[in-house]
Amino acid sequence: MFVLVLPDVAVPMAGPLHYTLPPELGPLPVGSRVLVPLAGRTVPGFVVGHDLQAPVPEVLPVQGVVSRTPLFDEEAWELARWVAPRYLASLRDALRAAFPAEALSRLVRTVRLVREPAAEVRDPTLAQVVQRLRQGPVEERRLVAEVGPQARRALAKLRKAGCVDWELVGLPPAVRPARQKVVRLCVPGERAWELVDRWRRRAPKRAAALQRLLQAEEVSRGELCQVVGEAAVKGLVEAGVAEEREVEVTRDPLRGAFREEGPPPELTVEQRAAYEAVRGALGRREHRVFLLHGVTGSGKTEVYLRCAAEVVAAGGQVLVLVPEITLAPQTVARFLGRFGDRVAVLHSQLGAGERFDTWRRLQAGDYDVVVGTRSAVFAPLPRLALVVVDEEQETAYKQPHPPRYHAREVAVERARRAKAPALLGTATPSVEALWNVRRGAWQGLRLSQRVAGRPLPEIRVVDMRREPPRSVFGQPLLEALRAHLDRGDQVLLYVNRRGYAACVVCRECGHTPRCPRCAVSLTFHLTSRTLRCHYCGRVVRAPSTCPSCGGVQLRPYGPGTQRVEEAVRQLFPHVPVVRADRDTLSRKGAHARLVDALRRGEVRVVVGTQVVAKGLDFPEVGLVGVVAADVALSLPDFRAAERTLQQLVQVAGRAGRGDRPGEVVVQTYQPDHPAVRAAASHDVVGFYETEWEERRRLGYPPFASLVHVVVAAREEGPAQEGVRRLAQRVTGAEVLGPSPAPLSPLRGWFRWRLVVRGTEGEAVRGAVREALAGWRRPQGVRVAVDVDPVEML
Ligand code: ADP
Ligand code: ZN
Repeated sequence: MFVLVLPDVAVPMAGPLHYTLPPELGPLPVGSRVLVPLAGRTVPGFVVGHDLQAPVPEVLPVQGVVSRTPLFDEEAWELARWVAPRYLASLRDALRAAFPAEALSRLVRTVRLVREPAAEVRDPTLAQVVQRLRQGPVEERRLVAEVGPQARRALAKLRKAGCVDWELVGLPPAVRPARQKVVRLCVPGERAWELVDRWRRRAPKRAAALQRLLQAEEVSRGELCQVVGEAAVKGLVEAGVAEEREVEVTRDPLRGAFREEGPPPELTVEQRAAYEAVRGALGRREHRVFLLHGVTGSGKTEVYLRCAAEVVAAGGQVLVLVPEITLAPQTVARFLGRFGDRVAVLHSQLGAGERFDTWRRLQAGDYDVVVGTRSAVFAPLPRLALVVVDEEQETAYKQPHPPRYHAREVAVERARRAKAPALLGTATPSVEALWNVRRGAWQGLRLSQRVAGRPLPEIRVVDMRREPPRSVFGQPLLEALRAHLDRGDQVLLYVNRRGYAACVVCRECGHTPRCPRCAVSLTFHLTSRTLRCHYCGRVVRAPSTCPSCGGVQLRPYGPGTQRVEEAVRQLFPHVPVVRADRDTLSRKGAHARLVDALRRGEVRVVVGTQVVAKGLDFPEVGLVGVVAADVALSLPDFRAAERTLQQLVQVAGRAGRGDRPGEVVVQTYQPDHPAVRAAASHDVVGFYETEWEERRRLGYPPFASLVHVVVAAREEGPAQEGVRRLAQRVTGAEVLGPSPAPLSPLRGWFRWRLVVRGTEGEAVRGAVREALAGWRRPQGVRVAVDVDPVEML
């Protein structure tokens, strides 16, 4: 019997390797972690399978076991084998996405002296190291910490001389199951009641404790001691009436979470048609992809809930992906309200213990529904029967580091493997998704009406070229603000940039301070009077004179959230305003507090970025003002128009969700842009027709596949040279570039890029794979490969 082990090393492996399994190590399930020899070293690895035969005669044995608790199952391994080639990632990176880092046992390297150095040791560091090793084996890290970084050189020398030996030792994961002491009754109830009567006078606390135990089978010891005192609990145990035990407890991130309960509403005609379509596929256990294209407020979530209920009732599991958990508190609350404790959440804001516990309980099959962000697409779900992806067009579904997968695509693949339908929902489909419907690969489901006959808001486009220069609000928006605030409405002002102003400009020479590391203009923050880089986080004091010409007229340009907030305060001093952007909402619970304040009507004007444009459903918003709808259009990205439309539709969708009709005012310098016009007329379908034509003409997705390769170095030269060599190696696909990346340098790295394009995805990936395989990456040069990029900056 051989085991197949994927070495857990940075060098990409073509596949797992065969090892023999010494009988004394016992059986090892898929998902266990072992130590194996590889190229003369001992390295950790994952057991991914078993085999009766080995392809080569010489097979080395597994050296040791780090952990037998499976980290993943065969299904996860199979999925990793799909993800790795699909996104040009290594198998190891793809497999590591299957479990949280917290679950991994830590490996430490210990060093042992096996032979005294032959000659006398003169070098003081070497002497110190030898001295320390004579006392016994020591963790390499500890040794380096004690002796200093020179210790590494000394160790290398000793190793060369055959004096030291290394050993890898596995320690349990840093996060462990939480345990708690509980107390429980160990006599029959009748006997306990007798004792309660007997002790009521003499030992009232003990009697109270006993009564408590009679009500609940098990009580936390700490809790009980708080109520009746330590002595009473001890007394009970000593009298043999109760016993103490240690049990595992779950750290539950959803304890006390808001649940939106209530009976499910009667479905609208359109909702019912969508639900029935999915239900049909569920009944046939048929994989099929549905694109639920519904205007904002059309009740898409209710369709998800109904389909999920269908699955749960039949004993299946549902995976629900949301782009960002802070933007989806209402989605979580609705699922909790409907499915209660059967719901788990998985996202990056969980504490390590919470994530670990949730994942372990998922492994045990304890939940029916998982609501999570992109990494949850790999959650262990053996009974998966439905996959839901909310807001499928969101860029947050793309993993920005290896494996650079798209969670929507992985979700569809998982559904395919599980013979389950995938339900993708959106108000503004990605150009790719809607094309899939158009060409018949996916099935479109349409919700064209808001629920309860609520009208879609009226959208007014204001041409800012005709408004006074440098004003934050043009006349129409100003008038609308007055009218709605007079009426007592809530107002949302959307600004797609946090901070005070997009940048500062010198009125005399036109100079704009930029981040020297990232080549983007610095954003002006008023309260701290600083300039900040939103890419690398660099903060500098705002200069009072122009660094270029010494002029004194540095002016903010392009409003940010702070500038808009200030303008509102000046115009309406008595109206409560709240700014909602990444600066103000970064603290835990800040989003929930904002929603509460809005519900209670304590806030009248919200000045927010995309953070509030998405997923916030509060009924009283009568007016939505888009302060500047141009910034996204000028991004150097072929998706700029699509993104602008998506932003506008989403933010406009926040208006008029209650009983009053909403109004939307969009200020722009490009009133005739197709994206702006489509949003204003609510006719998004027309936009896609033009956009498809454009993409087809220019050779962009969905009519071509792209692989974006960025080569970065600390200096310009090596990056440019490296990418040039790589570009020469690409054959069988078109190469665009190389060119400097739009954001270069970024965080101190000079970045050159290359886009490889072709009509066949597999051919394009193959061309890049081949080029990379033979390319000798120069020292100090990094390369990032992004298949189907959603952003190319
Ligand atoms: P979407 O996700 O399409 O923007 P939501 O699912 O948030 O829309 O629904 C908007 C509101 O309408 C929610 O408050 C929801 O509870 C309510 N709703 C959904 N379906 C119905 C229905 N059939 N009847 C009445 N109210 C509904
Ligand atoms: Zn920067």
